Amino acid sequence: MSVLTCPHFRDEAAAFEHVEGMLWPYGPVCHHCGSMEKPYKLVGVRSKPSKKNPNGIERYGLYKCRDCKGQFTVRMGTVLEESHLPLTIWLQAIHLMCSSKKGISAHQLHRTLEIGYKAAWFLAHRIREAMRSDDFTPMGGAGKFVEVDETYIGRLKGVPKAPSGAHKNVVLTLVERGGVARSFHIDSATVARVLPIVNANIHKESVLMSDEARVYQNFGPDFAAHGTVEHGAGEYVRGKVHTNTVEGFYSIFKRGMKGVYQHCAEHHLHRYLAEFDFRYSNRSAIGVEDNVRSLIALKGAAGKRLTYHGPR
Ligand SMILES: [Zn+2]
Repeated sequence: MSVLTCPHFRDEAAAFEHVEGMLWPYGPVCHHCGSMEKPYKLVGVRSKPSKKNPNGIERYGLYKCRDCKGQFTVRMGTVLEESHLPLTIWLQAIHLMCSSKKGISAHQLHRTLEIGYKAAWFLAHRIREAMRSDDFTPMGGAGKFVEVDETYIGRLKGVPKAPSGAHKNVVLTLVERGGVARSFHIDSATVARVLPIVNANIHKESVLMSDEARVYQNFGPDFAAHGTVEHGAGEYVRGKVHTNTVEGFYSIFKRGMKGVYQHCAEHHLHRYLAEFDFRYSNRSAIGVEDNVRSLIALKGAAGKRLTYHGPR
């Protein structure tokens, strides 16, 4: 049975119950004053009539606060608030983005969910925002291995093609073996850009792994050990010394960006990175299955909001 037959993907009231259960584990919380005094549940309330909906639309999940008398829903103050799309559509989109390894394009969401392209585009970016990790604790630790590498993707607007790769976006990624991935869109792969990120994000007791690139050459003393693999000399693995994990991450990322996200504007790249980091860091190989991954993304929807100018 397809997961998409679950009631919360089909029935708006069930969708609200599902999200409330996730975001309000201790019961409804007033969006306006923070009161948790058992609010009144308002049923049968309809929105104002419009041309499209002369009878208005039924408003689900609406509560009235006993303290401030304000009305609120679980969508308020989260990324789920900023569109009028039904919550069932949100939950289906979150599920699709969380369960497809290489991602899903706005065009595909538009066709699958039968919503407008622009709405699908906004939806996808808000879900990426929900996927963005707020965890800045250093990766790795004693006896753990963290691999670092950089890759080049896309093409910078107005920059002529150069053999040095200066016309491409630079992405720096840190991957803990058996753990999470964190990627950064940086303007150049220089020590000045890379070192502060490596220092802030990798635990000092970790073993650092990189290739022989000059940018990583003086990182050794800061960590328990630093292994470098000499790709230039045709070397890929020397026991535990390799960067295969981060290269595996890039292979999924690049296939996804090529096949699904052909028109990623430079200023949105960090959002796609958040999406690929999220799926990698919550992958089934470390015990996170599709449905759990969706719940984690949904939890991330709380407390994050953003506004957009639309597709560019
Ligand atoms: Zn209140």
